[in-house]
Amino acid sequence: MAQVHLKKIQKTYANGFTAVHGVDLDIHDGEFMVFVGPSGCAKSTLLRMVAGLETISGGELRIGGKVVNNLAPKQRGIAMVFQNYALYPHMKVYENLAFGLKLAGTPKAEVDNRVRDAAKLLEMDHLLDRYPKQLSGGQAQRVAVGRAIVKKPEVFLFDEPLSNLDAKLRASMRVRLTELHRTLREAGRPSTVIYVTHDQTEAMTMGERICVLKEGTIQQVDRPTTLYERP
Ligand code: ADP
Ligand code: ADP
Repeated sequence: MAQVHLKKIQKTYANGFTAVHGVDLDIHDGEFMVFVGPSGCAKSTLLRMVAGLETISGGELRIGGKVVNNLAPKQRGIAMVFQNYALYPHMKVYENLAFGLKLAGTPKAEVDNRVRDAAKLLEMDHLLDRYPKQLSGGQAQRVAVGRAIVKKPEVFLFDEPLSNLDAKLRASMRVRLTELHRTLREAGRPSTVIYVTHDQTEAMTMGERICVLKEGTIQQVDRPTTLYERP
């Protein structure tokens, strides 16, 4: 559980283009925050800076009180779920979930506990022996989320995780991910979420607060009900 604090965050790309113009934002402990806005508004750039996948040109980024501007992704207590899932095709689901932990030297029993715990949370115990190509889109998506859960991160970062699913699956995954966040909170494992989407429905139904971005600046930050009520 960690607060994410953005102070005057700025991004200028190597070609001189400034994509993010001094963004100030506090994301609370355990909060589900959505970044929403049209393509090009800098949702990904911001998320990637929090993840440590993109350098920060100016300002200060804190996670859990600590300045992380110059820390590697691994040292930030974050886990990221990508749009394309990025599963290893030659490994079964179990190994896909376990791989990162094993690499980090986690003891085998602990790896097994965490994999089974994630599988239970995502109702995918029956998928552990399958290969990625034997999964549906929604199942592959759950494995991708599982890979983040096993890390027990302080902060979950989601980059358009449902964009590759059809409308029906998207709707059920919206509910599933929202419930997962609540379940972890009720289990005493609250997790902070930053969820990037261009989809208004996802933003309105999933976000506890929504940060509306436009051309690299924040237009509005509010609870979904308050956003709805505005003329
Ligand atoms: P979004 O995720 O909201 O679609 P991005 O964060 O991908 O927006 O991009 C924000 C702006 O930064 C866009 O104008 C995009 O073209 C520009 N941009 C993204 N990556 C680079 C890059 N590597 N070099 C230069 N400009 C970039
Ligand atoms: P996505 O929509 O999934 O964020 P994009 O097509 O926006 O993907 O970007 C794909 C890659 O190209 C990213 O690494 C991004 O940083 C880079 N990119 C995007 N816009 C630009 C740009 N204007 N100039 C240079 N690189 C860019």
